[in-house]
Amino acid sequence: MLNIVLFGPPGAGKGTQSEKLIKSFQLVHLSTGDILRNEIAKKTDAGLEAKKMMDQGLLVPDATVIRMIADRIDSNKNANGFIFDGFPRTTAQAEELDKMLKSRNSSITMMLCLDVDDNELLKRLLNRGKESGRSDDQDESIIARRISEYNSKTAPLKEYYSAQGKFHSINGIGSVEDIFNRLCAVVEA
Ligand code: AMP
Repeated sequence: MLNIVLFGPPGAGKGTQSEKLIKSFQLVHLSTGDILRNEIAKKTDAGLEAKKMMDQGLLVPDATVIRMIADRIDSNKNANGFIFDGFPRTTAQAEELDKMLKSRNSSITMMLCLDVDDNELLKRLLNRGKESGRSDDQDESIIARRISEYNSKTAPLKEYYSAQGKFHSINGIGSVEDIFNRLCAVVEA
């Protein structure tokens, strides 16, 4: 199995690059942000509870996203592999993901980290907010909170995967195609 953690701050291009990677490598895309937005649209209890945190730019509780990911892994038993996009975002989530995969005789193959500076992130997110209508992309203070959550709780995962020899940093600035080629070069190495 090819299991990739696609990593990077909000606005780094994880969603765009995931779409391209799943096509090239026949993987299943698991984005906790997309799953949560879908739960909100369906007005489920979990979705409405998560929305309160998402609207403030804060992370939702680990247990909520871990359960969602476990359900999706189990309902895709014949997958070639997964792209984890926006998950894990905390050390607790990373440890649970490792356990989940181990109990299914699998593991994370690599973590690909898209590197993009804060100014470029803000520009991209505000632009996406205009185009998509996503409310958490339209307010500079919410964006700043999301980037701060990333720096304090999520960025330490670079060390976590580095210690396992699985961390790869990729320049996330440039055309979609150029960045995709950089990712493919690492996956195929
Ligand atoms: P994203 O679409 O990945 O930018 O996620 C949008 C929002 O959903 C985040 O700001 C968080 O509030 C929430 N979220 C998504 N994935 C996670 C996760 N793995 N852990 C905690 N919160 C998450």
